[in-house]
Amino acid sequence: MGYSIKIGKIAGIPIGIHWSWFIVFVLVLVTLAAAFFPAVTPGLSITEYWVMAFFTTLFFFGSVLGHELSHSVLAVRRGIPVQSITLFIFGGVSQISREADNPRTELVVALAGPLSSIVIGLIFLIIWFFSTPISIAVSSVAAYLGVINIFLALFNLIPGFPLDGGRVLRAIVWQVSGSQRRATRIAATGGRVVSYLFILAGIFEVLVLGNIIGGIWLAFIGWFLNSAAGSSYQQVALQDVLKQAEVDEVMERDFETVPPDMSVHDLVEEHVLRHGIRAFPVVSDSTLLGLITLHDVRHYPREQWPELTVGQVMTSRDKLHVATEKENLRDVVTLMDSANVNQLPVTDDGRIVGLVTRTDVVRFFAVRRELGMEEEETAEGSDKAA
Ligand SMILES: [Zn+2]
Repeated sequence: MGYSIKIGKIAGIPIGIHWSWFIVFVLVLVTLAAAFFPAVTPGLSITEYWVMAFFTTLFFFGSVLGHELSHSVLAVRRGIPVQSITLFIFGGVSQISREADNPRTELVVALAGPLSSIVIGLIFLIIWFFSTPISIAVSSVAAYLGVINIFLALFNLIPGFPLDGGRVLRAIVWQVSGSQRRATRIAATGGRVVSYLFILAGIFEVLVLGNIIGGIWLAFIGWFLNSAAGSSYQQVALQDVLKQAEVDEVMERDFETVPPDMSVHDLVEEHVLRHGIRAFPVVSDSTLLGLITLHDVRHYPREQWPELTVGQVMTSRDKLHVATEKENLRDVVTLMDSANVNQLPVTDDGRIVGLVTRTDVVRFFAVRRELGMEEEETAEGSDKAA
């Protein structure tokens, strides 16, 4: 997700804030301070309303983060890497780099979010109960947060993919039918139905009840769910195809290698500039020693290039991620994403046999798509095996 600011790491997972979040933060803050709290707790000062609104907004987004963290922590615990969590306009999204391997994992990861929202909601309701005789400001903040977290849990449990409830539905259908793809299709259809209901409810609000802002919000949520349902289905279909293809179907066998004693200057002049290639395996007697990319070279000033050797600048073998010929493409793409690299050397017993790049994977799909092969329903058997 573009345009997001990294704010730190929790449990090893990078947390980011999308620019749209700041708009929502201000909107929620102003609505609470100027309209909501003055209406429900009259008689306080303007400063008190703003302080209440500020803490409510802060805790609200903290709650959303707690919801996302619960998904992520359970995903990581079950062996699914999580790249990051981003807070954006609709709350939060966990960048989980691949789908669950079995329905049970899917179910546990999906339920973790709503369950944590219910727990957080109950904690705030307990605070509300005990603070009511002491402070009206604290108790109304707690009441608001309690209700909104319960609401967040219920909203997310609506059985339309990619909402958590849609994932629960998918896990159940997957368990019963044994096909992840069929389960995703049914859950995505559920997502579409729910999205149209939201849009219809929005139109009803505007035309019949005359509530324009509320109606537009409902329709907007519907539109968002609709596009998310479509793209999530495609994402799963893509992973499905990836899971069935192996590295040796896409890797380049014909690639340039460089020796470790070559100077960086010669590498740039004779290889990079002449052929436009950005990454070279560093090889001696067909044994892989490392990989050198433009990224490595850029760390050094140009004046040093004639004296530096490829061996000094390269990323050495022990720090390098590699693939094997029979690995499936889904795992390889996951590895490239989590290591944030564009290519992986393919090795067989320490010897380099190929190079697999993101471009190779994309080309593989482009060809299959042109041949009309991507909709092939061959996943049923491999689903069960996985
Ligand atoms: Zn969730």
